[in-house]
Amino acid sequence: MDLHLEQKRVLVTGGSSGLGAAIVKAFADAGARVAINYRTRPEAAEALADACRHTAAGRPITVHADVADPQSVESMFQAVDQAWGGVDVLINNAGMDGAQALAWEADIADWGRVIDTNLKGAFLCAHQALRRMVPQKSGVILNTTSVHETIAWSGYSAYCASKAGLTMMARTLAQEAAPHGVRVLSLAPGAIRTDINRNVWEDPEGHADLMRKIPLGRMGEPEDIADMAVVLASHAARYMTGTTVFVDGGMTDYPDFAHGG
Ligand code: BGC
Repeated sequence: MDLHLEQKRVLVTGGSSGLGAAIVKAFADAGARVAINYRTRPEAAEALADACRHTAAGRPITVHADVADPQSVESMFQAVDQAWGGVDVLINNAGMDGAQALAWEADIADWGRVIDTNLKGAFLCAHQALRRMVPQKSGVILNTTSVHETIAWSGYSAYCASKAGLTMMARTLAQEAAPHGVRVLSLAPGAIRTDINRNVWEDPEGHADLMRKIPLGRMGEPEDIADMAVVLASHAARYMTGTTVFVDGGMTDYPDFAHGG
């Protein structure tokens, strides 16, 4: 199957680490031109770009932006315009889970930061991307959400709210953009082994608890998500828009209900 991704212009937010870094590699391997967005660690973005330099479309570019800041996002898209004259795929991946806190103990500034990055940040990037994709009558926007767009998670109300918001935002943008040849989708990972949940999987009890929540019996690896991101952005998914694909080892199949009920 031909994915038709050769030379496509792909911007990955939060691309220097975790899922984002695996997504960057997967698109580079598929022959796409990739822009790695980073906020705090230029050296990680440059090292990743170096690691991808022998791929068909050459070394990725790196672009700084804080996705929560409209000015910064606009500058990032201008930098991408300067390099390639536009963008074909936006992966809205930058995100954070924030400090764990029950609602009545939460720090309001921290709560807002999670929403600003995960939800408003994704909108700001989509806004800029659509201004380019709608006139060219093609493009794909893919949001990284989470199983927590549908599974409640005590201590993470901002994170859950941001991810649920993100998927409805994607559906709305999909409706707006479909007549213009642009697809908008969400990809909802389960528990994937990255730094974001290192404290859980490094702890034997936390890991055992996680295993009870995953029917396929293992944590996901970043490549499990990255491969699907490539498929969803590709020609193979040409008839998909306005929906969420869960890549979670069955977490949303609620394995606790294998018995009882
Ligand atoms: C979170 C992880 C968590 C997973 C499953 C993800 O969205 O970022 O920390 O392990 O959901 O609960």
